[in-house]
Amino acid sequence: MYKAPRGTFDILPEEQAYWKYVEDKAVSLCRLYSYQPLSLPIFEDAQLFTRTVGGGTDIVDKEMYVFRDKSGQELALRTEGTAPVCRAYLEHGLFNLAQPVKLYYMGPVFRYERPQAGRYRQHHQFGFEALGDADPALDAEVIQMAWQFFLSLQLSGLSIQLNSIGCKLCRPEYLEALKQHYASYAQRLCPDCEVRLSRNPLRLLDCKKPSCQEIAKTAPKPTEYLCHGCRVHFESVQRYLATLSIPFELNSRLVRGLDYYTRTVFEVEPQGKGGQSSLGGGGRYDELIETLGGNPTPGVGFAAGLERIILNLKAQKRAVRALPRPVAFIAYLGEEAKIEAMKIASELRQAGIPIVMATGDKGLKWQMRQANSSGSRYAVILGKEELANRAVTVRDLGSGEQNSVPMTDIAKTLKRGRE
Ligand code: AMP
Repeated sequence: MYKAPRGTFDILPEEQAYWKYVEDKAVSLCRLYSYQPLSLPIFEDAQLFTRTVGGGTDIVDKEMYVFRDKSGQELALRTEGTAPVCRAYLEHGLFNLAQPVKLYYMGPVFRYERPQAGRYRQHHQFGFEALGDADPALDAEVIQMAWQFFLSLQLSGLSIQLNSIGCKLCRPEYLEALKQHYASYAQRLCPDCEVRLSRNPLRLLDCKKPSCQEIAKTAPKPTEYLCHGCRVHFESVQRYLATLSIPFELNSRLVRGLDYYTRTVFEVEPQGKGGQSSLGGGGRYDELIETLGGNPTPGVGFAAGLERIILNLKAQKRAVRALPRPVAFIAYLGEEAKIEAMKIASELRQAGIPIVMATGDKGLKWQMRQANSSGSRYAVILGKEELANRAVTVRDLGSGEQNSVPMTDIAKTLKRGRE
């Protein structure tokens, strides 16, 4: 027996109402803020992620699904959405449009992680990006959008964690200070942090091991080392968020797991959980497009994980609207009635009425069980007598009430029942 690969899962019909609920909220949000949809490939040149997300990050070093295709090109399953959006922005000359260009995407992301609740090897992200404008008001807009998204989903108890990690001007000095701090605790670092100290010191702050978290508590903060430009930018972001009444908490240890971020970084956290369970995160990446060979072009964005959102919706017992059910199940008795029933089903569907058509040669009792489990509101029944009368029996499956309806009036009757 084959099974879905570890860390992946099928989304069965009964789960789809949650997905539709979240996807609909995402699309309405983007319409409201005028972000345009962008669909991206599932795999990209592996270098796209290595150069932007960064060698030295877990995502690239440990989690990327890399393979060679038959031409020998090294490809990777998409590890995140921002770098592909920037690649598309450059490839299609979107920098020639009025800036900023505002885009959103939705789709699967692949990371070879240790599967656990809320952590999978294939998960789905909804993300949006504003490219081509460095105004801190855009950082505030993106954070406001993220916040409004969760409010519209009716998730409660969330917080926004906010930090600034500087830019290429001020970060080197900060990293030096950070390395010095950690070097004095070298004996107590976990094996991962030993590697981070030389390869990716910013990620030291993000280690979840209690002994490393102790060291992080007294570490220098990125905000203490911001250059003038980054400091002014960060103050503006906070002022704009206050103007928009968006609540946020400053968190000097928030660094994010991807290397391309500059200045603003933020995450949306559920109540009372550790950093592992963030619902979404984002920030500014003013150096990313240049890394990909474009002109220096600022950008800011956000991405949320749909599985974690759905887990939280369920934990908070949020009811979501069920997917539409069929209006009628068409049952028949005998071959002659079957042919008439097929014609009726076809006509009703052409009239826009969702129908389940019975199959096989089972008795009426069996077909009524099928009708009930299909979730249909009505059963339309055709037997010998009905054929002779050119009328069908329409049974309301909720109340059990049934009436004879002329064949010419079925659509009208079913439509009336739907109102
Ligand atoms: P990131 O691209 O790492 O910033 O992640 C953005 C969001 O995607 C996170 O806040 C999570 O909600 C979600 N996410 C990231 N990795 C996973 C994963 N392995 N499984 C499920 N959701 C994830």
